[in-house]
Amino acid sequence: MQLTNRAQQVVQKEMTLAERLYLPAIFAGLSITIKHLFKKKATLKYPEVKREFAPVYRGQHVLKRDAEGRENCTACGLCAVSCPAEAITMDAAERKAGEEHLYREEKYAAKYEINMLRCIYCGLCEEACPKDAIYLTDRIVASEFTRGKFVYGKDVLVEKMDDRIDVSQRKKHYSIVNN
Ligand code: SF4
Ligand code: SF4
Repeated sequence: MQLTNRAQQVVQKEMTLAERLYLPAIFAGLSITIKHLFKKKATLKYPEVKREFAPVYRGQHVLKRDAEGRENCTACGLCAVSCPAEAITMDAAERKAGEEHLYREEKYAAKYEINMLRCIYCGLCEEACPKDAIYLTDRIVASEFTRGKFVYGKDVLVEKMDDRIDVSQRKKHYSIVNN
């Protein structure tokens, strides 16, 4: 008894000469491959060639210094509070006499950490910061072999004086969007 009406009788047809030679099918396949050789490639030879990111691309964070090289961050905690992934932790400390050249405000972040595995690169920390201290950049978070290495401290996040990070395009974009 048939369970459905979809049964089909399989007919074993004799192959034609062209089918038996396989050559037409091989040439049809090769022509598709050759066509792709001349098409514009969607991929890049990374890391030799790097894609240009939009000014608002959200990659690895930077903790900015001011023009005199002092850390902008005052450890107010607004970035941590606004972070939906709870990726930011910090310890605040009071600036001591003689440290005015290191920290712009009287309070600073003695410890500041971002867990890059938690971060979802939403940019809310950047928007919450009242001191122009934290920005996301076009730098890519490097791959690592252990989870602990994805917790970035001040040694990674605070910008180096000899390698300042230009965030002017980013600021310009935000001022256009917000006005
Ligand atoms: S980009 Fe978003 S998720 Fe990442 S640290 Fe900032 S607020 Fe948190
Ligand atoms: S980065 Fe900005 S928001 Fe976060 S603690 Fe420092 S000053 Fe406050």
